Amino acid sequence: MKRRPLLAANWKMFKTVSEMESYVKDFLELVRDVSDRDILIAPSFVSLARMVQLLEKSIVQVGAQNMFYEDKGAYTGEISPLMLLDVGVKTVIIGHSERRHIFNEDDKMINRKVIAALHHGIAPVLCIGETLEERESGKTSKVLQTQLKNGLQDVDTEVIKKVIVAYEPVWAIGTGRTATLEQIQEAHSLVRKEVGTLAGEDIAQNMRILYGGSVKPANVRDIMRLEDVDGALVGGASLDPESFAKIVKFEQDI
Ligand code: PEP
Repeated sequence: MKRRPLLAANWKMFKTVSEMESYVKDFLELVRDVSDRDILIAPSFVSLARMVQLLEKSIVQVGAQNMFYEDKGAYTGEISPLMLLDVGVKTVIIGHSERRHIFNEDDKMINRKVIAALHHGIAPVLCIGETLEERESGKTSKVLQTQLKNGLQDVDTEVIKKVIVAYEPVWAIGTGRTATLEQIQEAHSLVRKEVGTLAGEDIAQNMRILYGGSVKPANVRDIMRLEDVDGALVGGASLDPESFAKIVKFEQDI
């Protein structure tokens, strides 16, 4: 079975609205012949509404980098699922390692966010991944299983198929140090197996599992060839339209 590839950009805290506008203009030109895969860009919150307008008639979808789990209330600085839906955002990154490690988000909070997103029909990109210390002490499998199980706890099997998982080893994010192909395939196959245990084989076989961690034009093709890799979540190398377009067209020579 072939899952539709998804190439996703996480812009983190980069790009103003005007920088986003200029990027979109260049990027659309570069990917105008692409139709057989999904493309997602997650800019900062302030760019979301304008970006959705600019990309309305294109194949590029707009995602958010985070979201709170309540619909509304006294949560200063937070953005709700209703606010995302209102501006036309239907995908949200949840539990990125920078949210886990800098902003202390734990599995419980991440699980509430996943449930809230699904409740509102927003597809969560659930990020999981081990630290270097965890890998070096042989805990990778346990960490991935735990993050997955906790992140998907009490998620209805009816809606679990909307979930996208991103495996992002913490030590490979923004470091230039990519996991080896063997490490990536091993982790992705473990994730798929775990999803099978949690939600059934059919859902596991259809679930898209992205790899993230220093993906760039020079390594994306080999990563995308791996059996259980269905896409990439890209930080640094997505900030330049030419570089991200090369990643999107991963089979082509660079
Ligand atoms: C990310 O932000 O999810 C990421 C993988 O970053 P980078 O590609 O820069 O490692």
